[in-house]
Amino acid sequence: MRVNVGPIRRQRGASLPIQERVDSPERFLDEVEFAPGATIDVRGQVTNTGKGFLAEGTIRTELQFQCARCLKPVRWPLAVSFCERFRAEDDGHKPVSPFAAAEDDEEEADEVHSFSGDELDLAPAVREQILVAVPMKAVCTDDCRGICPTCGADLSDGPCSCSEPAVDIRLAPLAEWLRAQEEHNGGAS
Ligand SMILES: [Zn+2]
Ligand SMILES: [Zn+2]
Repeated sequence: MRVNVGPIRRQRGASLPIQERVDSPERFLDEVEFAPGATIDVRGQVTNTGKGFLAEGTIRTELQFQCARCLKPVRWPLAVSFCERFRAEDDGHKPVSPFAAAEDDEEEADEVHSFSGDELDLAPAVREQILVAVPMKAVCTDDCRGICPTCGADLSDGPCSCSEPAVDIRLAPLAEWLRAQEEHNGGAS
């Protein structure tokens, strides 16, 4: 995922479009599960700021999770924006580090990537942005009822056959006793 900035290297203020696509995202980033057939699309632009380059745009992909309640796979579309600064390693006499950039310009206190030659490598920033955007816990729908702990039936499809008799058998004597008590108390007062 390299962007060639050769054409705008000497033109401050000039920009180029970014259009990158990863067809096998699982090979690009293996810490997350991508939805089957998902791609990673990176679109935006890179601008020569005079001090370096500013790459900004949007990363789009689709992840896959297990629903935290019913364990069904959930497709999770993701769109995250990015804004990354790059500075040439061989750019003048100043050492290139985030600290140097921070002293230099308050606005550039964020991480600054260094690069050499004419190519900016967007891959580390894209990986990081995807990882940061991954939700901790996902459910298929807000009202997912999960699965029956006894038979594993999906309770969003309706009550399972095992749950009601089980509850009845255990609670029937108690319910009867309560009813009797109520009648007794009601009769006494
Ligand atoms: Zn669910
Ligand atoms: Zn059940």
